Amino acid sequence: MIQIENINVSYQQTLALDNITLNLEGPSITGIIGPNGAGKSTLIKALIGIIPHSGKILFNKQPIRQQLNRISYVAQKADIDFNFPITVRECISLGLYPKTKFFKRLSKSDWSKVTDALTLLGLNDLAHRQISQLSGGQFQRVLIARCLVQEADIILLDEPFVGIDSVSEDIIMNTLRELRDKGKLILIVHHDLSKVPHYFDQVILLNRKLIASGPTNLVFNEDNLRKTYGNSL
Ligand code: ADP
Ligand code: MG
Repeated sequence: MIQIENINVSYQQTLALDNITLNLEGPSITGIIGPNGAGKSTLIKALIGIIPHSGKILFNKQPIRQQLNRISYVAQKADIDFNFPITVRECISLGLYPKTKFFKRLSKSDWSKVTDALTLLGLNDLAHRQISQLSGGQFQRVLIARCLVQEADIILLDEPFVGIDSVSEDIIMNTLRELRDKGKLILIVHHDLSKVPHYFDQVILLNRKLIASGPTNLVFNEDNLRKTYGNSL
């Protein structure tokens, strides 16, 4: 599905990603694991083309940057503006705009997609609340609902579970599993190692260089974790 070939990313003096080559096959829920500063967010940003890089990234054998409409992305919380004055329902509906013309009103069937996503993520009672009035877990569910209505093939989530309640985390994971079962490729930057075997079919272990990637039961072992985290483990 996705081929990453010889990707290098530098910020001024820092080499954030050092010659990353790997293939990702969907459907799957794949974890991107590594210490702070390992280049996890940078890898996701390279995938969606918002960071200059050398090398090639292909989706179904064509350059991914020509197919960004097939990707949904939720940034790390620190990068999202919580205070934008819109309601939950409006925020979710924004996921439809890559397909609908921005100045056009949404159709009945568009709004029914929004309603389905609200229901799936347990947000019906909050539909008309301002997003600034939500808990962290509720807001993260809104962002996942927005991905859902986008109907992309690839879903990229950067640390979606940081600082959220366990009920929201379970609802989100169950939603992602359903999406995986419908054929999607889901990539999640994650740092709670204890949940890795439970959450991910595949993992990418990263520390500037690619340490290992593949099925979790083969790759997520002590030896590779030591190579990824060094003695800080
Ligand atoms: P991670 O998500 O794994 O914590 P990042 O991809 O955010 O790591 O960052 C990788 C490295 O690149 C870090 O050393 C970070 O300080 C550096 N970096 C990230 N973004 C920038 C930026 N915009 N300018 C300069 N350096 C950056
Ligand atoms: Mg990050």
